[in-house]
Amino acid sequence: MNSLCWNCHEIIRDTVEQCPLCCATSPIYNVAAFKQAIREAGDPSLIRHNFCAVDDSFSHEFGKETIINHVCSRCGADRDEFLNTEWV
Ligand SMILES: [Zn+2]
Ligand SMILES: [Zn+2]
Repeated sequence: MNSLCWNCHEIIRDTVEQCPLCCATSPIYNVAAFKQAIREAGDPSLIRHNFCAVDDSFSHEFGKETIINHVCSRCGADRDEFLNTEWV
């Protein structure tokens, strides 16, 4: 049985714990996920992203620009968007 994500209304299969589009926890996955989803609905900053460091450094004629981005491996969210929450 599929359900709709409470956060972005993407279709989520009942075999996955988190929405592939926004990482919101699916409340039908299990009891713990149901409780987590309620917390996230009250405070979306609690949505658990799987941030990975991505090296976006590049070279140019004046040297090398070192840029490390933190991007969610699941939904592609950029951690910089969440600087106002607990990621500071
Ligand atoms: Zn979603
Ligand atoms: Zn994510």
